[in-house]
Amino acid sequence: AKDQGKNTYQYYTTSMTADAFRRLSLENSLRRALERGEFLLYYQPQVELETERIVGGEALVRWRHPDMGLVSPAEFIPLAEETGLIVPLGAWVLAEAARQAKAWIDAGLPPIRVAVNLSSRQFRERDLRKTVLGALEAAGLESRWLEIEITESILMERGEAAVALLREFREAGIDVAIDDFGTGYSSLGYLKHFPVTSLKIDRSFVQDIPADADDAAITAAIIAMAHQLHLKVVAEGVEDAAQLDFLRRQGCDAVQGYYFSPPVPADEFAGLLAREAA
Ligand code: C2E
Ligand code: CA
Ligand code: CA
Ligand code: CA
Repeated sequence: AKDQGKNTYQYYTTSMTADAFRRLSLENSLRRALERGEFLLYYQPQVELETERIVGGEALVRWRHPDMGLVSPAEFIPLAEETGLIVPLGAWVLAEAARQAKAWIDAGLPPIRVAVNLSSRQFRERDLRKTVLGALEAAGLESRWLEIEITESILMERGEAAVALLREFREAGIDVAIDDFGTGYSSLGYLKHFPVTSLKIDRSFVQDIPADADDAAITAAIIAMAHQLHLKVVAEGVEDAAQLDFLRRQGCDAVQGYYFSPPVPADEFAGLLAREAA
């Protein structure tokens, strides 16, 4: 037993060192990744249930590291947030997504809304408003084709300042979605005061529907409540027909998930849009 304990300990320290090393090396290369053009955007379709058409595409950033290959945003976004690099990276994502959306429209593809994730760190910057509106202007994209996704925590942490900024986005014609809905702490009662247009039900609730009675009840309740408040509902992480069926019966507006498509590179996404137009 003593030996075993020792082995476990050794394994643990070794892996900690490897993790720390990887982190340090990622942090160093992250600083240079933007100027080296190593980031790219994938897009995941959002399918409207009533029409079964793609009405939106969520932009999801990817990092093609020269040695490590594709690094997951789950790994580098937290790092970018801690180091503040999320600010220039987030500005790049906005500009690139807007440029891409405009290019698809100009190519004659059915127009869709691109959804861009904003992290709470970006809300601390004074010029976020200028960054968002500037990205639209530079691309020549109408504001109705942009949606921003924020988490409940932004509303909780940034309070009135965030609400005021979101109100400006709404007034400019930009839609605002609450991401990962149901996982945060926001009281439902607050929702009606927030300038948002839709809720994205977190994948953790969608995963086990319809079999899990609790999750089914929660999902149905979120949809009903959102509709009472005139908000649209997008379900995230839809992977199979049974989930889709349940969501459809509850009147969910749109879905996003592997069942229709994983996030794909821009040219593949254009292919999906072209197939619809045909
Ligand atoms: P998110 O905003 O909740 O994005 C949805 C994540 O769920 C994506 O992971 C997507 O690939 C994954 N997903 C979609 N459908 C399914 C499904 O059916 N099953 C499963 N198991 N997963 C599905 P991804 O692309 O790895 O992104 C992870 C997170 O990284 C995002 O979660 C978001 O929080 C963050 N992120 C990605 N791009 C950006 C960005 O440009 N800016 C910021 N601030 N965060 C970003
Ligand atoms: Ca999102
Ligand atoms: Ca989400
Ligand atoms: Ca469950």
